[in-house]
Amino acid sequence: MTILIETRGPKTGKCNICGELGPLTEDHTPPKGCLKPRQVEIHHISSLLSQGEAPTRGRRSQNGVKYRTLCHRCNNTLLGARYDPLFIEFVNNIGQLLKTSMQLPSALSIRGQPQAILRSLLGHIAAQGVDRYLKGPLTESIRDYILDETKPFPEELCAYYWVYPYKPHVMVRDAAFLDIPSGKPFSIWLLKFFPVAFLVTWGRPTYLEYSPHSFESWRSCPFRYEVEMPLTLQPVLPVCWPEAPSNRTVLVYGQEAIHVVGESQAK
Ligand SMILES: [Zn+2]
Repeated sequence: MTILIETRGPKTGKCNICGELGPLTEDHTPPKGCLKPRQVEIHHISSLLSQGEAPTRGRRSQNGVKYRTLCHRCNNTLLGARYDPLFIEFVNNIGQLLKTSMQLPSALSIRGQPQAILRSLLGHIAAQGVDRYLKGPLTESIRDYILDETKPFPEELCAYYWVYPYKPHVMVRDAAFLDIPSGKPFSIWLLKFFPVAFLVTWGRPTYLEYSPHSFESWRSCPFRYEVEMPLTLQPVLPVCWPEAPSNRTVLVYGQEAIHVVGESQAK
């Protein structure tokens, strides 16, 4: 069975971030200004997982993935004008560093504004999927966090980042991450594109196979707070972590999960 993901949706509807009804605008992920993937293939994960059946190609795009799911205010006034510029700066500084350095140390740091980077990240993952605004404590705490710069990062979430010097562009939302020995699944959102990857988890994972950098210490820092964000360059995490199953963990994709795979322009 192959399910193509709808990316356009209606011209008017509920914004995936704030839930308000009105005209919808296209969100670009990664945001314009970041290094862009060349070709993007969108699959529903069930097509990827169906054995012996070649995945059917979804919508192709030259400019990353676009979903028409956000209202003008969330897309342009908040993400576009406030949060994305700082997210893009962080991403491109890492990209520049990886591309221009002749010899890289095993660890260094990059200046960044964690609260802006986190809001941009949550906003773009929230934009995935048509008509995804759901009532509930989680949707509301993410909405409030994005709309109000004074709020701390929602306490039910954890966020991580790591250097990702690879081509495949991966977006996942609403998949369940299962640590097999503990048997406790938790939901994850994932965004990976050259040169950086981000993981958002619902709840505090008891086990992670690798040690990505955590946003934990900046959870409550002021919006304008600029920090030195550590960056481990060696060893880099495997290209398929955490979406590829290991002997201890597996990602479980329900019908509602969204998985997007493409190629980044990693030159
Ligand atoms: Zn909105």
